[in-house]
Amino acid sequence: MNILITGGAGYIGSHVAKQLLETTTHNITILDNLSTGRIETLDTLRGLRDFSFIKLDLKEFDKISSVLEEHKIDTIIHFAASIVVPESVENPLKYYMNNTVNTTNLIQKSVEADVQRFVFSSTAAVYGEPSVVPKEGLDETFLTNPINPYGMSKLMSERVIQDTSLAYPTFKHVIFRYFNVAGADIYYHDEKLTPRIGQSFPNATHLIKIASECAVGKREKMAIFGDDFLTPDGTGVRDYIHVDDLASAHIDAINHLQENKSNIFNVGYGKGYSVKEVINEVKKVTGVDFQVDNAPRRAGDPALLISNNSKIKSTMNWVPKYDNLALICQSAYIWEQ
Ligand code: UDP
Repeated sequence: MNILITGGAGYIGSHVAKQLLETTTHNITILDNLSTGRIETLDTLRGLRDFSFIKLDLKEFDKISSVLEEHKIDTIIHFAASIVVPESVENPLKYYMNNTVNTTNLIQKSVEADVQRFVFSSTAAVYGEPSVVPKEGLDETFLTNPINPYGMSKLMSERVIQDTSLAYPTFKHVIFRYFNVAGADIYYHDEKLTPRIGQSFPNATHLIKIASECAVGKREKMAIFGDDFLTPDGTGVRDYIHVDDLASAHIDAINHLQENKSNIFNVGYGKGYSVKEVINEVKKVTGVDFQVDNAPRRAGDPALLISNNSKIKSTMNWVPKYDNLALICQSAYIWEQ
């Protein structure tokens, strides 16, 4: 296959690229505008096996068709997007342009070029702020009700993709709704965990990344955003999934699409940890204590978000390997170092 990975220099895209380069013989083309993705990540990936790289912003619509034709692309894994929730509230048009409009355009060019397989990274943010989460977690039929432009820009993209699949029978998609992705490349050198790639997004807002920055001394302290939620210890509960397990779902999706099936899947481990539990785990695995203050709730943070992952497990036989909070935190910390 000839696979195009948009956003392949970024955090999740690079982990998928790594697995494709290491475990398959598909031809890989990475397209990235390098706004948040890193050239160093591409250098590391090149050490695994060669691939093509195109520095391009998806808003350059007129150039996409020639990329698809030149590289004879038959499969697209589309990560490139803006992903910062507070920024999406301040600058919604950036999100509707970068995410919804660019995705729509990419799909139009895909249909024109007869690209038949499309894998899309969506988010649990499409579920918004559920007032009650079922005991077995959120499944894919749960009401979607995004509460910020980021979530809405992804939900609108999902709809464009689904409608396109209905109208063009040869166009098939897999949409993934990611829960809380964390950790870094599980790679052992001399029996020592030594991640080669990881999360380098500047001004991180994610819990495990921030706690890791505290543990390595890049940050003096951090805050718990709200300790009065209706959860066992009062802090927010999330379903943290290791980035390599999320990445392997994308490899499974390519096989699933070869069977000519379109589908949507939640991806998470189906269990939750509280903010306090996560911070304690980071302190435990690193042996570093750091200051943690209490702060008010962050706008739009739901109390609890846990996936029901029955569908992805039963439909694609997805088998996660790193369902282990200590390993997630440890790999994030070593990468941060
Ligand atoms: N959180 C926190 N302090 C931080 C960052 C995050 O208390 O410095 C909490 C946040 O309120 C939420 C959980 O950690 O309950 C996960 O937040 P994150 O930003 O990692 O992911 P989200 O679930 O918002 O996508």
